[in-house]
Amino acid sequence: MTTLDAIAALPEVRVRRSGPPDSEGRCVVYWMQRAQRAQDNRALDVAIQAGNLLRQPVVVFLAPVPTYPNGNLRHYRFLFQGFDGLEPALTRRGVGLVFRLYPRHRLEPFLDEVCPSLLVGDENPLRETEAWRVKVAERVRVPFWTVDTEVVVPSVCLEKEQYAARTIRPRIHRLLPTYLVPPPVPRARTPWTPASGLAREPVTSRVPDDYPLDRRVDAVGDLVGGANEARRRLRRFVRTTLSGYDTARNHPEQDGTSRLSAYLHFGHLGPRTVALAVRDSDAPEADRAAFLEQLIVRRELAINFVRYNDRYDRLDGCEPWARRTLDEHRGDRREVIYTPRQLEGAETHDPLWNAAQRQMVETGWMHGYVRMYWAKKILEWTPTPEDAFSIAVELNDRYQLDGRDPNGYASIAWAIGGKHDRAWGPTRPVFGTVRFMSLASTRRKFDSAAYIGRFGVD
Ligand SMILES: Cc1cc2nc3c(=O)[nH]c(=O)nc-3n(C[C@H](O)[C@H](O)[C@H](O)COP(=O)(O)OP(=O)(O)OC[C@H]3O[C@@H](n4cnc5c(N)ncnc54)[C@H](O)[C@@H]3O)c2cc1C
Repeated sequence: MTTLDAIAALPEVRVRRSGPPDSEGRCVVYWMQRAQRAQDNRALDVAIQAGNLLRQPVVVFLAPVPTYPNGNLRHYRFLFQGFDGLEPALTRRGVGLVFRLYPRHRLEPFLDEVCPSLLVGDENPLRETEAWRVKVAERVRVPFWTVDTEVVVPSVCLEKEQYAARTIRPRIHRLLPTYLVPPPVPRARTPWTPASGLAREPVTSRVPDDYPLDRRVDAVGDLVGGANEARRRLRRFVRTTLSGYDTARNHPEQDGTSRLSAYLHFGHLGPRTVALAVRDSDAPEADRAAFLEQLIVRRELAINFVRYNDRYDRLDGCEPWARRTLDEHRGDRREVIYTPRQLEGAETHDPLWNAAQRQMVETGWMHGYVRMYWAKKILEWTPTPEDAFSIAVELNDRYQLDGRDPNGYASIAWAIGGKHDRAWGPTRPVFGTVRFMSLASTRRKFDSAAYIGRFGVD
């Protein structure tokens, strides 16, 4: 029989504050932050299983914080769109929802009001969100568990910072038979009935006009947030685009990828759902394997990097060989230097780079292949590798809907600091032995003129 101790011992569960459930507690609270969905959400499943063992109801506390670092209107619009349909989906799992807006968004007063016996949260390895969890663990009086639900293979099974895809891949593949399985769908058996005086606000999928957030970056229309929209996109991708993904994904002039990154980032879709839909599809094996390599191996390598390397958004987080070679070429003459403002405004001499920058600013998404080129050119055109790193992070986080994500930090570290990569010859100015990309090489790979035609004005 499953016990609370057995649940707490699962690899995906991190016990932040241990101890028996509060004997005076009246419910289990799931503090929903990253995994904003009612399906394929291990944190929700754990809360429900615990609630059933304790014969107590489960309630989700959802309270968007307007001060998330680098979050702006573009991100918040998508985030709020994700609230649409969440309450009925939780009701179908037998779970209640309390939604609160700033300034009533704080967790601790809510806990005082509902008296939980146990607090469950989800995980996000970024430093700011991790710091929130650490602080909560110090302050709460009840046991506090967080659940690693944004990965297929629980991060803890990978033990330490992995050097590259080639070191993490065999470990992940070994564990996939255990973890890449259809999720359980437990239902809460004790209904949640809010106390009469408990403050709850109607769930809204529109950002309130007076929400005190950074509104300098406009929302975009191309991608609409939410679990329902995410599942629709996934079904369409599997039906129409997955066959051929292995080659089409390197063609930015085509629409050959899933565009699911923002849904994964905001937790509107679980990676296991995506992986199972792809694995079990009729698409050719090469296309399924290529996709699962990106979704599981590359994405979980990025999460591993951020979890185990606290310098993930700086050049310092990269390997010594790469920092050494960049240092040796620090004094090299740059053909051209652009200011952050010129880069932001897509005012370079390079039509492909400008088109990529415009795609990101205008649509909130840039094709993966040109993202590599985009970041490498920032290294080439700025005074130091440290400047390049911070400018790339700033632009990526500000404009990409999927920005502020482990994938972004790991990929920028890859492009600029050789992270998860190896040294490449011949030695080049500025780059040393960090892998180089030229405009000519991109022309050989894809129809860059067609891509520039879509997003460029040069
Ligand atoms: C400089 C640079 C910055 C990047 N910034 C981000 C970012 O901020 N957020 C982000 O999610 N991805 C980022 N990526 C990784 C990748 O480009 C995007 O995940 C991908 O282009 C998203 O489009 P898609 O969903 O259509 O991808 P698909 O090709 O359909 O891939 C499916 C999923 O696999 C994952 N994935 C794909 N490629 C990678 C990769 N190289 N590394 C890790 N995971 C991957 C993503 O979650 C993606 O949604 C960056 C890459 C580079 C080179």
